[in-house]
Amino acid sequence: MAEPPADAGSVREIPDRAGDEGAVSEDIRAMIRERIAAGALPCERCRAVWAGPGVGMPCVACGRPILPTEIEFECEQPGPDLLRFHQACYLLWEDECQHWATPPPETVHTTERSH
Ligand SMILES: [Zn+2]
Repeated sequence: MAEPPADAGSVREIPDRAGDEGAVSEDIRAMIRERIAAGALPCERCRAVWAGPGVGMPCVACGRPILPTEIEFECEQPGPDLLRFHQACYLLWEDECQHWATPPPETVHTTERSH
């Protein structure tokens, strides 16, 4: 039952580079959640959504400019505001708002006693 020694080299933890995307999107998600909680970011349903190349305007979710090389999502709100997002930020925002809009399911405690 001697197992061959696992190649230690196959388990590599690369600090910054690998998994960068995931870590960043979790950061943005947290940021979006905070902004929603603070009322800085509305959770209104978009009347219309436009997607196109960025024009360097800041993203309302992460605050970074949306570059022409990136896809900008514009969410038309009932008000005069147009929310501009990176594509990834938009998806996170939409996702967060869904959680936000849906109240957490109440845990129903049944206090039935079987005797
Ligand atoms: Zn963004």
